[in-house]
Amino acid sequence: MENYSAGLIERSNQLYDELVEKEIIPEIERESPEVLSTKELAKVVGKLEDTVDELTTTIESSKDVSERKQLRSARKMPKQLLKQFKDFVARKQKYEQAMATFGTRNSYSKTDRDATFMRMKDDYMKNGQLKAGYNVQIASEGQHALAYDVFPNPTDTRTFIPFLNTIENHFFTLPKYIVADAGYGSEENYEDVFENRTATPLITYNMYRKEKTKRAQKNKFNTANWKYDEETDSFTCPNNQQLTFRHLSHKTDRNGFSREFKVYECESCTGCPFRSECTKAKEGNHRKLLLNVKWEQQKEKIRTLLSDEKTGEIYGRRKIDVEPVFGFLKANLGFTRLSVRGQERVQNEMGFALMAVNLRKLTARNAT
Ligand code: SF4
Repeated sequence: MENYSAGLIERSNQLYDELVEKEIIPEIERESPEVLSTKELAKVVGKLEDTVDELTTTIESSKDVSERKQLRSARKMPKQLLKQFKDFVARKQKYEQAMATFGTRNSYSKTDRDATFMRMKDDYMKNGQLKAGYNVQIASEGQHALAYDVFPNPTDTRTFIPFLNTIENHFFTLPKYIVADAGYGSEENYEDVFENRTATPLITYNMYRKEKTKRAQKNKFNTANWKYDEETDSFTCPNNQQLTFRHLSHKTDRNGFSREFKVYECESCTGCPFRSECTKAKEGNHRKLLLNVKWEQQKEKIRTLLSDEKTGEIYGRRKIDVEPVFGFLKANLGFTRLSVRGQERVQNEMGFALMAVNLRKLTARNAT
């Protein structure tokens, strides 16, 4: 889409310059020399229409055959470019509409503008599939769906906070523990639960399992294993060099969430025998270490919670709670695809489907 727009901008600028240079139309007032806005493109269309109309009138009033021939040939270019600029206006409007539909998404489906292209589970031939769809979030307990919502963004991480808002605003007060898998474990999400909700997150993060492996714990180039000295605020590397604190750095992601890092730098990596294994820094530069204090503290809290017998056991039940709801929906009710389009309708259909899951479950329970 961006390339498409860049092409349109370049071509329209080029043709506009040509029209002004050849004095086919007068110069128009522009807001920016780089891009012709839709309004400015429409103005060019108006000017070209004037030029073409003027030439047509002159042709019609002329009695001289060769003059008429000459004028007709002079009208050819503005006429062609009039068509071209009308097309630019239409394309630019379409592009602007599409950008408004995208919102913060990377794609949308033409057959359902609320849906986004997402990677679905591989088919039976193990082919990855990119299909228009929605991201359905469910909150469950005892294998009953208690709350749900439908999102256009494919990643679970970014559905977490809005889904908690949905639950609080439309369903019920949040329970004491919020249990979710590593797909939801992010600094932003932990911060939201720890600071804004009256609940405790039992949510792992991506490296949770890996950092517990012997290999990770024994890797001497893993900075998590480096000795830290609080007094001097420095780390000691395998070559016994100090990495001292230099400055703070902030990184803001595309959704506007900002993270703060403490940047440490090794005093000297010059001549270090471990250099090639330890850093990719250019010769003359020294190894840097970025520490996100908040993230480290959050992970520490999560590790404590998950290693605790009671909360660890609650987390362990996650798989046998929410997964069966999806399993029941697909395998028992055969609900593998939506039959409607548009977020509102999809929301309704999902509501009916989940209600059916709950009723079947309830009926089965009452029958025993
Ligand atoms: S490369 Fe630098 S930081 Fe890494 S072990 Fe050597 S001296 Fe230490």
